[in-house]
Amino acid sequence: MSITQTVSCLDGYDPDALRVDKAREAILACLSPITESEKVAVREALGRVLAQEIVPQINVPAHDNSAMDGYAVRFSDLQKNPLREIGTALAGKPFAGKLGVGECVRIMTGAVIPQGADTVVIQEVVKKEGDRVTIPPGQKKAQNVRYAGEDLAIGKAVLTGGKLLKPADIGLIASLGIGEVKVKRRLRVAFFATGDELASIGEKLKEGEVYDSNRYTLHGMLARLGVEIVDMGVVRDDRAALEKAFLAASKHDVIITTGGVSVGEADFIKEMMAKLGEVLFWKIAMRPGRPMAFGRIGNAFLFGLPGNPVAVMVTFYQFVRDALVHLSGRNADPFPLLSVESAENLRKVPGRTEYQRGVVFREGNAWKVRTTGQQGSGVLRSMSEANCFIVIEHERGSVKAGEPVQVQLFEGLA
Ligand code: AMP
Ligand code: MG
Repeated sequence: MSITQTVSCLDGYDPDALRVDKAREAILACLSPITESEKVAVREALGRVLAQEIVPQINVPAHDNSAMDGYAVRFSDLQKNPLREIGTALAGKPFAGKLGVGECVRIMTGAVIPQGADTVVIQEVVKKEGDRVTIPPGQKKAQNVRYAGEDLAIGKAVLTGGKLLKPADIGLIASLGIGEVKVKRRLRVAFFATGDELASIGEKLKEGEVYDSNRYTLHGMLARLGVEIVDMGVVRDDRAALEKAFLAASKHDVIITTGGVSVGEADFIKEMMAKLGEVLFWKIAMRPGRPMAFGRIGNAFLFGLPGNPVAVMVTFYQFVRDALVHLSGRNADPFPLLSVESAENLRKVPGRTEYQRGVVFREGNAWKVRTTGQQGSGVLRSMSEANCFIVIEHERGSVKAGEPVQVQLFEGLA
């Protein structure tokens, strides 16, 4: 189905006043994830999307073992105090014998529980004289024992395809003795900035020019997402140059451009896009970032972002990020919105979603959020100073200090 057919089937689709959630829905409805995969060493799999199931061929831990340093005992013997110590079990050096009635074995964390024992008593509470070990009352059967397979059990899948591999996952795969895994190939994303006013680093600024910063923020955002990046530079607002750039970019999975989608500029671009592929021009009910183009040129999906530096970042995080996550075959994990108290009054008109740049900070025991000040869509400093977006919902009007607002934090721990 064509993009136009797909999106026009959606309820409430209005390209000239598109709600953020509708735009997101429209984009996702058109995308299909890549299917190719490759094998990589487990360390290289960090940040990649798993393309197989991981099913343990061994139990982890492989044997019942001690969670503490202490004494391995038979719980039913604890009335027979003192017990007789008959040997030692170390991690990696099991005790070879078997516990008989009234016997115990000195045991270290991670050591295999000796045959006959079922409980570990921590060393701090016992009294020892020679090989006589006295255990105080109050012990519980099976305490301080880690059972074979309690972390990972043979045959029970622990990771499934589509998972973004985090440090814990890499460790988990290694704990199974697996050295190579199948991951989805990386998504290839080409991008360029458009505009006659753009100068590149190293050039002297002429009157009316600005240095191109969008390609740098885009580079950063894409690098963090772990996609393959093809930076095509700055392209002038010139029909032939743009056409050439779009055709070259269409060899990749995704094309991202900045600038050239605002009302004054869209006309000739629209005409050209219609020739090259299928592209929709939207006015999204949001701030910043109202104009945006979405479509397909060749086999590549196109995201035509606005030119303003903050609008680029907001539209990237609100639309392109999720689209790239979906295309790369990764399971959707909606970015969490947290509710915190606004430390200031926030001006807002109902009828659009706003993404104000905020700083979540601690005051006493409470977490609150304030804005970074000036919120113009050209003020890139606001993104640099912020640690979150303050997301003010479509229907909502102005916010009073003390009211809860939703925030989307920029950084995640793992
Ligand atoms: P446009 O969407 O092309 O009308 O651009 C809107 C505003 O963003 C203008 O002030 C541009 O100068 C600015 N702008 C566009 N592209 C870039 C860029 N790559 N880097 C920095 N500023 C830009
Ligand atoms: Mg422009």
